Amino acid sequence: MAKVEWIIPASIDEAVQLLATPGHQAVAGGTTVSDLMRLGHRMGPSLVDISRLALAEISETHGVIRIGALCSNTQVARSSLIADKIPALSQAILSGASEQIRNAASIGGNLKQAPRCVYFREPSFPCNLRAAHSGCSASTVPTPSHAILGVTPACLATHPSDMAVALAALDAVVIGQSARGFHCVALRDFYRTPGEAEHPLTGMPEDALITAVELATPDISPVSGYLKLRGRASYEFASASVAAHLGMKDGVVNQIGIAFGGVATKPWRNREAERMLIGGRASAAEIDRFLDRVLSEADLREVTAYKAPLLRGATHHIIERLAARW
Ligand SMILES: Cc1cc2nc3c(=O)[nH]c(=O)nc-3n(C[C@H](O)[C@H](O)[C@H](O)COP(=O)(O)OP(=O)(O)OC[C@H]3O[C@@H](n4cnc5c(N)ncnc54)[C@H](O)[C@@H]3O)c2cc1C
Ligand code: SF4
Repeated sequence: MAKVEWIIPASIDEAVQLLATPGHQAVAGGTTVSDLMRLGHRMGPSLVDISRLALAEISETHGVIRIGALCSNTQVARSSLIADKIPALSQAILSGASEQIRNAASIGGNLKQAPRCVYFREPSFPCNLRAAHSGCSASTVPTPSHAILGVTPACLATHPSDMAVALAALDAVVIGQSARGFHCVALRDFYRTPGEAEHPLTGMPEDALITAVELATPDISPVSGYLKLRGRASYEFASASVAAHLGMKDGVVNQIGIAFGGVATKPWRNREAERMLIGGRASAAEIDRFLDRVLSEADLREVTAYKAPLLRGATHHIIERLAARW
């Protein structure tokens, strides 16, 4: 393992200045960073340990819930405020990783965790994400974990975070700070489709310190949930997952947000398709039409085609479950 310099900033401003210096990288819980270092990925070489910064509070002001970027995944999932008002977020976090990892993992780190593509993880394979313009090994030999939505010639790795899928359905906003000022990026713009930009991971400047995530509760139905299908129950990344919030009045849908995970290169939403459900009764036929629209954009390969029926089943299950609560 290559040697790294370990720096502990005394304040948020100092951390921001350090991260603006080339070769400096944030480390919070370290669960992704240490994992990749063990695999031989180059990190830093100066690691800025942000874990002691005062960014670990959850608060609610005027209907906006603010979650500090250094809250642990467990702290957020177990917060009664989150579990009561935004169950989809709590359920999504609890479906990810193991309790030990969730205790260490931070919200900012979860948002920026690396994809699990086997070719990305193993540094001997060409991979555009690890080394720009080196090629995509998965484009010729995809594996069952690869994506069916948001696939481009540049990359077809599935986005790994369960939490980010819930945040996408709930229209969260990510707050950050860099040496150039403050940044406020809607989750829909935070992740890019591969090839859209030189650095495809986030729409936040690469050197910014993520400081918080915000959610506007008046825009979120109290009836929400997350369903994850995966290869084993203990801990595993999603083969397909769905986060949704649903509002209904007199049996008619008047509010909806649905995001998909495990199937796409970023937390996936199709707002045009969602609009087809507004004014309807969330019947099986309407959900099918919605899914037909979503999956009309799918790039199905022999090894990944199984994800389409998984996504259909999970979506029916969760929407019908949420509708039954109205
Ligand atoms: C065995 C295993 C199983 C897992 N299973 C799942 C799963 O099922 N579902 C799931 O969603 N996740 C899963 N994960 C991933 C896990 O959720 C992430 O590793 C974790 O959330 C990362 O948080 P961290 O604080 O440890 O990040 P770190 O490792 O500290 O950092 C990760 C990245 O984020 C950057 N970063 C961290 N904080 C900030 C910040 N505030 N501002 C800017 N950049 C920042 C770092 O520079 C680094 O690039 C799994 C991980 C492991 C090891
Ligand atoms: S799918 Fe993406 S992460 Fe995997 S090899 Fe291709 S470019 Fe790299």
